[in-house]
Amino acid sequence: MDAQAPVILPFGDAALTRAAAAIRDGGVVAVPTETVYGLAADARCADAVARVYAAKGRPSFNPLIVHVSDLKAAARLAVLDDDARALAAAFWPGPLTLVLPLRDGAGLAGAVTAGLPTVAIRVPAHRAMRALIAASAAPIAAPSANASNAISPTRAAHVAASLGAAVPLILDDGACPAGVESTIVAGRTILRPGPVTREMLAAVLPVAPGRTAHVSAPGQLAHHYAPRKPLRLDAVARQGDEWLIGYGAVAGDDTLSAAGDPVEAAARLFDALHRADASGRAGIAVAPIPEAGMGAAINDRLRRAARR
Ligand code: AMP
Ligand code: MG
Repeated sequence: MDAQAPVILPFGDAALTRAAAAIRDGGVVAVPTETVYGLAADARCADAVARVYAAKGRPSFNPLIVHVSDLKAAARLAVLDDDARALAAAFWPGPLTLVLPLRDGAGLAGAVTAGLPTVAIRVPAHRAMRALIAASAAPIAAPSANASNAISPTRAAHVAASLGAAVPLILDDGACPAGVESTIVAGRTILRPGPVTREMLAAVLPVAPGRTAHVSAPGQLAHHYAPRKPLRLDAVARQGDEWLIGYGAVAGDDTLSAAGDPVEAAARLFDALHRADASGRAGIAVAPIPEAGMGAAINDRLRRAARR
């Protein structure tokens, strides 16, 4: 077998049995979620979590999101106040991560929280991640399954191209439906915009975008999700040798959504950036995306990708 290539198995019983065994043995497995593909490990196992950081080349001061099956499992790891319970009731299972006080005796590996007194928790909706949590009977720590600072993966092939042999097994269940990383909320502060939009959150709680004092992590670093080429935003036409990613009326070499639908655009965003990066062109330009709804998450990722 090619030592450089991970095994890619279609989602199903055989793949799941093998993936769950790998998780129980302290290994890592790539698995799709509704946001992006994650690099999964048992969140209670320090060696497994160390393998996640090593495979990504991720600095160990950046905490990981822990994925669990339901609110009860979340409450065994963290303390949920009334605000957190209201958000969980509205958006779990789904692409919302809550930063919560870590419960005493939660049993998570210290590296998962990077030593913080808080833990980021999500109850995912995607059948593959849900099945892996159930089959391995473990809380699953999973950052995006790409090399640190590279574009997030929304297809199994993106994972294989970015991580290679560092990930032995990839569960392939097609393209990720939401396509951008989860919304992260701490208290009433939106730390990272995502598929659960500010408008959706505001229907439940008065929330506002902001930052936390103590976390410096990729989700909040200015430079992240970057392609290898210069990226120009708000482009209405190609300049020189650029690959133009269109939106709405701006047609390009590719489009995020010809219909101007921000939800479709988010689902296509990282795939489009991967393709632009792989094109022979010297630079990438992206059409303007309106900021409302899912547009906030798209523009957040694009701004970080454009910064060098
Ligand atoms: P990723 O796994 O790449 O989607 O990134 C997870 C992100 O969650 C990190 O980059 C942080 O921004 C955020 N995060 C995780 N744990 C915490 C925490 N305890 N406090 C604040 N933010 C966190
Ligand atoms: Mg990431």
